[in-house]
Amino acid sequence: MAFANFIDRAATAASQVLADFHLGDFKAALDKQVVAVAFDDEAASCAEGQATLDLAVRLLARLYPVLAILPLDSAASSQAQALERLAKSINPKVGIRRSGKSATVCLVVGVTRPTLRCPTFFMGSDGWAAKLSRTEPVGSGSSSLPYGAGAASCFGAANVFRTIFAAQLTGAELDEDIDLSLYSYNKSEAGDAGPIDLPVDLGETHLVGLGAIGHGSLWALARQSGLSGRLHVVDHEAIELSNLQRYVLAGRAEVGMSKAVLATTALRSTALEVQAHSLKWAEYVERRGDWVFDRVGVALDTAADRLAVQGALPRWIANAWTQEHDLGISRHGFDDGQACLCCMYMPSEKSKDEHHLIAEELGIPEAHEQVKTLLQTDAGVPNDFVVRVATAMAVPFEPLAPFVGQSLRSFYQRAICGGLVFQLSGGSRLVQTVVPMAFQSALAGIMLAAELVKHSAGFPMSPTTSTRVNLLRPLGSHLDDPKAKESSGRCICSDEDFIAAYRRKYGEQLNNVSAA
Ligand SMILES: [Zn+2]
Repeated sequence: MAFANFIDRAATAASQVLADFHLGDFKAALDKQVVAVAFDDEAASCAEGQATLDLAVRLLARLYPVLAILPLDSAASSQAQALERLAKSINPKVGIRRSGKSATVCLVVGVTRPTLRCPTFFMGSDGWAAKLSRTEPVGSGSSSLPYGAGAASCFGAANVFRTIFAAQLTGAELDEDIDLSLYSYNKSEAGDAGPIDLPVDLGETHLVGLGAIGHGSLWALARQSGLSGRLHVVDHEAIELSNLQRYVLAGRAEVGMSKAVLATTALRSTALEVQAHSLKWAEYVERRGDWVFDRVGVALDTAADRLAVQGALPRWIANAWTQEHDLGISRHGFDDGQACLCCMYMPSEKSKDEHHLIAEELGIPEAHEQVKTLLQTDAGVPNDFVVRVATAMAVPFEPLAPFVGQSLRSFYQRAICGGLVFQLSGGSRLVQTVVPMAFQSALAGIMLAAELVKHSAGFPMSPTTSTRVNLLRPLGSHLDDPKAKESSGRCICSDEDFIAAYRRKYGEQLNNVSAA
């Protein structure tokens, strides 16, 4: 048994949420864990139960070095082999136990209660509703919808993390009972369950950004039967090893693969017509020529990238995010009097330029002009630059030497974001870039997919702009977060020219909306 070879990236993420973080202590705590996933035939034989099990293993195998996979009756044991293969595709060195004797914390799917003496969470779902209980099995519904089932895995994995690291998390008590509908974001009630097992035509939909959040979306879309239409997937990057920390569809075999190609592969079993674009959004828009974007799912990292999508004036946008304290989704028309996506991400006067941020994270804020030049020219970083960073970071030069001559962006991504400097410094160097936990990104992505599907199906949409969830706290009762339109009038949604351009593009479709 051993840690995954991207554990330092996972440690970086954990260091941002755990108090008194020390890399050695963190690894020692993980090493003591045997995280069990127990399930019965009931779970193994239905789509919702299989989905919950699949995502739970995809999340757990990225962090914990030993899993116990426990079929509770004989019919479930073939599923156990598939789950073991799945865990090993993510971390080939993961230890797999077939007994729950040494389990330290357990997730259960199905209707059977295992006889284990460790903290236990019962996960399940009913269509759009995610369920979790500390006291009794919750079962899995008979639909083929992945939204409640997948969200339940994220709640389960979050509670496992909060159980193990309770001493380093303030206010992170465990959830008692969760029954949350991703259809309405209310506690699920009779009549509020939402339609299930219906055909949905996505029309022409875009998913922009195929990183950690995008993977959560793709995981869900790939599992919903009855989807049709055309889905454009847009991302110019390739999968890197450090991405495995939270990209739920990526295993060792996918490192180096184009993100857009991986997305297409993931959706192969659906009836969707998938068009892969290994391009930045701006390049894609320019090549497309036609600036009509009916529905765009945004799973991008930065404010600047989001502003670029809103600038192309899609008819409707669903946006997902993860940030330090929460994750969530927001929904945006443009000419509807509500906040547009830019309203939420308007740069404030104080926000720093990228070269200032990168120079700070490299420990050499005074060298921001050199950083700016290196970023602009894409020139290789000189030897003395890497020496200077190593000195500033108080880490040895030798492990960083291979980066001499590489582009600054590559040096920064691999050495800083990829966790190398973090590892060399024994965990004392904290990166400012927010690195979410896998269960956070996955839930944001699943919520985004649910929103795209609900909008495509013409279901009533939430009247509030955004919905927020904090997976490091017990689930709150009010997740709605209305966002006001940007008030200074600087935003493009207050600009006559932009409004006129939007109306020219979508005028006919808008008439229906305003009449409603
Ligand atoms: Zn706006």
